[in-house]
Amino acid sequence: MRYLIVGSGLFGSVFAHEASERGSKVTIIEQRNHLAGNIYTKEVDGIQVHQYGAHIFHTSNKKVWNYVQQFAEFNRYTNSPVANYKGHMYNLPFNMNTFSEMWGVRTPQEAMAKINEQRQEMAGKEPQNLEEQAISLIGRDIYEKLIKGYTEKQWGRPCTELPAFIIKRLPVRLIYDNNYFNDDYQGIPIGGYTKMVEKMLDHPNIEVKLNTDFFDDKEEYLNNYDKVVYTGMIDKFFGYKLGELEYRSLRFETEEKNVGNYQGNAVINYTEAEIPYTRIIEHKHFEFGKGDPDKTIITLEYPAEWKRGDEPYYPVNNDRNNNLYAKYAELAKEQDKVIFGGRLGQYKYYNMDQVIDAALDAVNNEFGE
Ligand code: FAD
Ligand code: UDP
Repeated sequence: MRYLIVGSGLFGSVFAHEASERGSKVTIIEQRNHLAGNIYTKEVDGIQVHQYGAHIFHTSNKKVWNYVQQFAEFNRYTNSPVANYKGHMYNLPFNMNTFSEMWGVRTPQEAMAKINEQRQEMAGKEPQNLEEQAISLIGRDIYEKLIKGYTEKQWGRPCTELPAFIIKRLPVRLIYDNNYFNDDYQGIPIGGYTKMVEKMLDHPNIEVKLNTDFFDDKEEYLNNYDKVVYTGMIDKFFGYKLGELEYRSLRFETEEKNVGNYQGNAVINYTEAEIPYTRIIEHKHFEFGKGDPDKTIITLEYPAEWKRGDEPYYPVNNDRNNNLYAKYAELAKEQDKVIFGGRLGQYKYYNMDQVIDAALDAVNNEFGE
């Protein structure tokens, strides 16, 4: 079998690796000038720069964790972002450190009493949107200072018009623990994600063509290969014929600073509405300060409206878009030569571990377990 894989992100690369191991010939086409999709990292001054935003690998899926070990060794980085709201610093995720900084409470009982008092305004009501979900989860103080501004910048619309599920991702803890994730495993591949993807694709059956857009020759590609694995935008594949799905885009501003340590943490979130960026990443802290001791690299992340031609970073999984996606998914079923995968092909807010899992499922469907 000859496979064409559109996109060298994690979905395409895992599929390519597995197909090649099973004896298939694989050609990957990638429209960008580099491999690895949004997890691409590039070394600058001995620092691995996460070009498309902070990427922390975390999972409770043991199968996936074991799977990635063959391609990289992971460090023991634990994500613990800090929020800056009008110059006050609060630990994230919402935990005893945050509650103590916010309300001066010291014990879990005092924190719980405060949270319960704050939640009262939602008593007996089923949350209908993100604002209501946040207030019923954690109360108004934290919602106003740490959630509202950040979320409205990130998604470009009021929290009252956003689905509740977005905020369910944030853990709430009554212990002094700033680990952002609840997962069993967490880390960053030593040497960067690009190296990890290169290792996946290091196989004589795999050929990679960069700077190559599927849509320059769509029909030709569909005719010339036995199967196509497509990890680009599903609506674009069908010429947007049922309408456009919505995405959020981002703009990254990267700067080199002549200091060894600029902000003291890998990720600082700016949660007030008045500051246009959502977070500043200082890349060397993902690797415990490695790299040039007198220099550092930071990236400011600005959320942006998506329009055709921009990078579609996040699917916007509200009802309108999910219903439209379901219609595209019906069309996709009729394309028996094409497998649609990944964040854009399946229009899902996937994390890296979920993308790997989905790619391994697709491999099982294709080749059998
Ligand atoms: P992508 O990485 O988007 O790969 C798709 C590839 O297809 C791209 O390289 C694209 O250029 C190419 N392509 C598209 N169309 C065409 C075409 N027509 N022709 C040729 N090539 C094409 N996950 C985590 O687990 N932890 C995190 O901390 C985390 N942080 C994130 C931060 C940000 C800012 C973002 C945006 C995402 C984050 N994620 C995180 C999610 C993670 O990036 C994704 O789960 C993963 O990268 C998705 O892989 P993919 O292969 O589906 O898509
Ligand atoms: N969020 C917030 N304040 C923060 C960080 C996150 O309100 O300081 C909300 C925001 O709505 C965001 C969601 O939590 O979209 C998920 O955050 P996460 O960090 O998991 O998002 P990602 O890394 O995928 O951008």
